[in-house]
Amino acid sequence: MSFSVELPFDRTILYLPADLEHLDGDEMLEFTEEYTGLPVELRDDFFHEYYREDLPRRSAQTRVRDLTERRFIEPLPVEVDLEEKIIHGRNVRGIIYDGRRLTKMIREYIAPAKGHHVVITDRAVGTMEEHDARYHIRTLICSIPSLISTSGIVEGPAKPREYYTGLKSDLGFEPMKYGDTRMTDAVKSYILQSLAWRITGEPFCEDKGCRLYNSHWQKEVVEYQLKGELCDEDMKLFREFQNFMYSKDDARI
Ligand SMILES: [Zn+2]
Repeated sequence: MSFSVELPFDRTILYLPADLEHLDGDEMLEFTEEYTGLPVELRDDFFHEYYREDLPRRSAQTRVRDLTERRFIEPLPVEVDLEEKIIHGRNVRGIIYDGRRLTKMIREYIAPAKGHHVVITDRAVGTMEEHDARYHIRTLICSIPSLISTSGIVEGPAKPREYYTGLKSDLGFEPMKYGDTRMTDAVKSYILQSLAWRITGEPFCEDKGCRLYNSHWQKEVVEYQLKGELCDEDMKLFREFQNFMYSKDDARI
């Protein structure tokens, strides 16, 4: 098997806000270790771990200003102040950050070396790709570092129309909500997607039922990210990745 780069990474670093409900860092650490066979480091929220005086301003610079246009402006002092409060725990909904800009900014702070860095945040992030007419809220941004948004898991994949009209009270499943007790399991699937991307260049799998399935609907998140397992092909991918890393170890002895 060939990998996208020769030595993709030697450890995974998970950044996790301590105050996010129902996110079990130890469980994520163990899970990630099991799939990669490599050490996993658990760090505090990126915005705390790497706090510098300029972080609120830099972070506010990545705010989405217009959902139909990728345009950035220098934030007003009041926006920088608000950002400072968000960093220190104020919960503000309705702000969307540009996923590409935000991860680029984070990269400058953490200067990632060999590790695979995964920043988990409750901030909403969106991207507008070339063919898009508007920003889309994302669950996962695959980049260095990768970013998983718990708000994105709630708001990104769509709920069925009946949910909004209230015409049907029983949807047959429970869409993800803020503070959901199932959030750790959901995030674990997105960690696997970020790892698959880092290893092969492709985060998603077309196999329905696989945890790497690119879910666009809440029903799919519940079925595939929460209840799903890796398909045989992707189990093989992680097994072969581990063998590949062990063989690299042997070669160094
Ligand atoms: Zn798969």
